[in-house]
This record gives sequence, structure tokens and C-alpha cells, in this order.
Amino acid sequence: MSHPQPDRDELRSVLDLVRGQAEDYLSALDTRPVRSTTAEAAAATLEGSFPETGEGACAALRELFERGLDAAVHSSGPRFFHFVIGGVTPAALGADWLTSLLDQCAGMWVASPLGVRLESVSIAWLKDIFRLPAEWGGAITSGATMANFSGLASARQWWGEKHGVDVSVTGLAGLPAVPVFSSGYVHASAVKVLGMLGIGRDSVRRFARDAAGRLDLEALEAALCELDGAPAILIGNAGEVNAGDFDPIEAMADLAERYGAWLHVDGAFGLFARTTPRTEDLARGVERAHSITVDGHKWLNVPYDCGFTFVRDASYLNKAYAVTAAYLDEADEGRPVMSDFVPESSRRARSLSVWATLRAYGRQGVRSMVERHLDLAQHLARRVDAAPELERLADVPLNIVCFRWHPEGRSEEELDRLNTRLGEAVIEDGRVFFGTTIYEGRVALRPAIVNWRTETKDVNFMVDVLLEVSRSIPFT
Ligand SMILES: *Cc1c(COP(=O)(O)O)cnc(C)c1O
Repeated sequence: MSHPQPDRDELRSVLDLVRGQAEDYLSALDTRPVRSTTAEAAAATLEGSFPETGEGACAALRELFERGLDAAVHSSGPRFFHFVIGGVTPAALGADWLTSLLDQCAGMWVASPLGVRLESVSIAWLKDIFRLPAEWGGAITSGATMANFSGLASARQWWGEKHGVDVSVTGLAGLPAVPVFSSGYVHASAVKVLGMLGIGRDSVRRFARDAAGRLDLEALEAALCELDGAPAILIGNAGEVNAGDFDPIEAMADLAERYGAWLHVDGAFGLFARTTPRTEDLARGVERAHSITVDGHKWLNVPYDCGFTFVRDASYLNKAYAVTAAYLDEADEGRPVMSDFVPESSRRARSLSVWATLRAYGRQGVRSMVERHLDLAQHLARRVDAAPELERLADVPLNIVCFRWHPEGRSEEELDRLNTRLGEAVIEDGRVFFGTTIYEGRVALRPAIVNWRTETKDVNFMVDVLLEVSRSIPFT
């Protein structure tokens, strides 16, 4: 088959093929290894020169599935604990397929009342579940990095106005350096975003009182005091990636109020603490921030890519992003032009999977998933505490357990080396998946539990595999 034009008759066989592939894949996902030991070799088989004539959609898709599957990391399954990567709920999967089916451009009302309306409904429901004020603005982004970008672009706009400048029009040139203050918990993506915004990666000062990075509130206040009334941007971290700890957001909100600063909170996964009374206090005060970042593809379990930006005064988002061109749509009451509130002009209607997830499972469904993960994290902590060769390094306030392998009689240096090797060996083994970090200066493991499929047996399996793999590591 080598049609110069795509062949419409292929569509039915394509749908049948993919449906069969999906059924096979999903029925094995709970128990398949997360990563094949031949993943890299499989990825290499996908190389090749650009064909002169095509082989047709079904052949291409069969090849993609048969060879590609081995090269994929099955992070949407229940035994993937690395980074903070969620899975895909059934509602989200179905809606994501419909998103491609309908192929909506959710940048403007006129191009997709469906995509735009579902986005405003989803944002309203999310503000409800996170208990943020209903009057705040918000939008769907491609993830927490771009949500941090949007929150901090709003902060930059506000900061410029304090200096009498519209930064989106005239830029930052000629202005003083932007003071940005955070704790040692600040996420790498927020730092990267400061670079992208022209504020500069080095502009951020981290006030940490210990090696874990906990906020030194007194030092932060002293720095704000020193500014003598000049505006500053604070970044609070609601859920840091090593142990799931929180900056004292309420105290940061007090300081922001007292010193007239902008408080941006990165709650990529940690804001989900607000969905259950068991952990809601961790992010107390977040409703007093000026901008907030949350991820969709982490704890909400919608597919990549999806995140959310919430901004108290959406006019800053609008000033940062508004576009005008004669052929574009004008905003109209109740018919928002989304591209005036997000970086992209054309954009995927990610709202379909968000809306379908919230509609399908409701407040109770999200809450019970989060509570189940909190229980699983405590279960994992107990298993770590019960294993003489494992050492827990941090409390478990949320869904991450930070610990290390600690065979007796080893120096700190050796322990770092052994844990690094163990992290690599777990990934090479592939049955479960998580990696290492540095916590308080020590190499540590930090599995995170965010996948709706994960159950107690998966957590037990992870610990069993970890101990088994550790026994294969030579002590040298
Ligand atoms: C994951 C994460 C980010 C970056 O999110 P992406 O969705 O990967 O862009 C930012 N902040 C925190 C706290 C995170 O956990």
C-alpha cells in the first residue's frame, strides 16, 4: 500500500487494530515488567531511513506496537514509582482518545466551544476540590513547568507594574534584578522558568535552615525587610520531590502580605493534599497565594501532558499573554479566548480528559484515590522500618517514602555508592521502577505513589524486588 493520499477505507481497520492492541496491553499492564531488559535494543530497531513509499497505516501501527512496546517504559502501570508520574484512569483514557478523534483547537471559543467550555468547567471544579477562591483565574497547561511559567509570568508582570513598566511590552531591560526568594525545596523547573522569563536562574535565593532544604523563615523575613519596600516574588513549595514535605505556606502568606510580595506556590502534586481532611492542613494558607501550580498528569491520573495554573488576578496572565491580530477572535462575555491566558495560540483540548475524570469519579473518587495512596505510603514506610537492612530517612507526610539501603558497617561514602548502584540495578531489572535522589547529602531512594492502579501487593512486590536486587550487588 502506497497511496499518495491517505486512504479513508483504512480507518476502520486502524480502529479495530488499535482497539485490539489496547485490550491486550491493558489486560497485561498490572503485572508486566515496567521496563524490558531489552528496551534500548528495541529502541534502536526503530531507526531507519525515510521510506520512499509508505507501507500503509495498519502496517505502520503494527510495527509501532510490536517493536515500540518493548522500548516503552510502562509508567502507567501500578509498579512505576519513579519521579512523580501518574497513570491514566479509564475515563481519562477514553476522553483522550476522543480528544484526538475530535481534534479540537482549544485556543479560541470560535474554534471550539466544547474545548473552551470544558476547560472553564474543569478549572472551576478544580478550584472547588482544592478549595481555592472561585473568583480566581486559571487555565490548563502542558504540565507544572508551564504552570510555573504562567504563575511566574504573572508575578513578573505584577513586579514590572510596581516599577512603572509593562514588562510584556518593554521587557526587563533597565530594571533592577528581580528578587526571588524560596526555600531549598524549590523545584528545578521553577528555576528553569526564571531563566525562560528573563529573570534569571541565579536570581533565586534559597533560605534553607538544614540540609533537607527546609525554609529558614527568619532569614526570609530578614531579606524581605532589607528590600525596604521593594517588591519581591516568593516561591512556596507545597510538596517537594524528595520526601513530600511542605514549606509553611501560611507563614509565607503572612510575610507576603506584610511585605507586599507576590506568593507563588508550586503544588504540582502536593496540592492534592487538599482533597482529603487527612492532609489538608499541609497546604494551609495556599488560598492566600497569588498564583498556584498543579499538575494533571501526576496525581489526577490524566494522560500526558496536562497541568493547571491558577492566578488570583487573572488580568496579569492576560497582560502577559494577550495577542491581537485582525483575523483572531475577540473575547466576549462568557466566551473566553483561551490563547489570551496561555502561552500557546493553538492547543490540544486537554480539558476533555480532565473534565471526564472529574465527572466520572467526582470529589469522592479523587479523595478516596488520594487516601488510598496515603495509606500505601504508610504501609511502605512500615515495611522499610521493619527491614533491618533498610533505613528510612524522612517522615512520610504524603505519598513519597525516602529511605536507603543500609547494610551494616559501611561508611557514608560506601553507602552512597551502594545506593547509587542499587538504584541503577532496580531500573535495569525493570520489574519495578524508581530511582535515587540526594537527601540531606545522602544518596537515597524515594518511590512516589500516585498511580490509581497501585495496590498493597504492588508495594510489597517493590520491597521484595528491591531486597532481592540488593543481594545481587557485590560489596567491593
Ligand atoms: C513534577 C514537578 C514539576 C514539573 O512538572 P512537569 O509536569 O514535569 O512540567 C514542578 N514542580 C514540582 C513540585 C513537581 O513535582
